[in-house]
Amino acid sequence: MAETVFSKILSGEIPSTPVYSDEDFYAFRDVNPVAPVHILLIPRKPIPRITDISEDDALLVGRMFLVANRIAAQEGLTEKGFRYVINCDEWGGQTVFHLHLHILGGRPMTWPPG
Ligand code: 5GP
Repeated sequence: MAETVFSKILSGEIPSTPVYSDEDFYAFRDVNPVAPVHILLIPRKPIPRITDISEDDALLVGRMFLVANRIAAQEGLTEKGFRYVINCDEWGGQTVFHLHLHILGGRPMTWPPG
């Protein structure tokens, strides 16, 4: 599996600001936030993109959203609302090829996205 910025964050080679950690997931603050709260939640398993998940990952991906909900609540986002984003490939705007969920909140979001 090719090294990515996020595998280096997981190994500690690149520093990050942790928000949540367990044996399967790590969440940290985005270095270039686009909202007052901008957290990246990643599985420790290096899945490049959301289209690369298999049946074996079904539980992992389900649990990823349970963890995300916990983080959203912890960050005080659940009262007003917030947004989850997964970018996929070039036209989806994906730049780091290690699956990640953006947790965005702290301001009203617009639609459609850019
Ligand atoms: P993507 O465009 O792939 O969906 O999102 C990648 C995200 O990773 C971007 O929001 C970008 O700001 C963030 N990012 C890239 N490099 C780093 C880094 O070294 N540290 C942190 N905390 N975030 C990063």
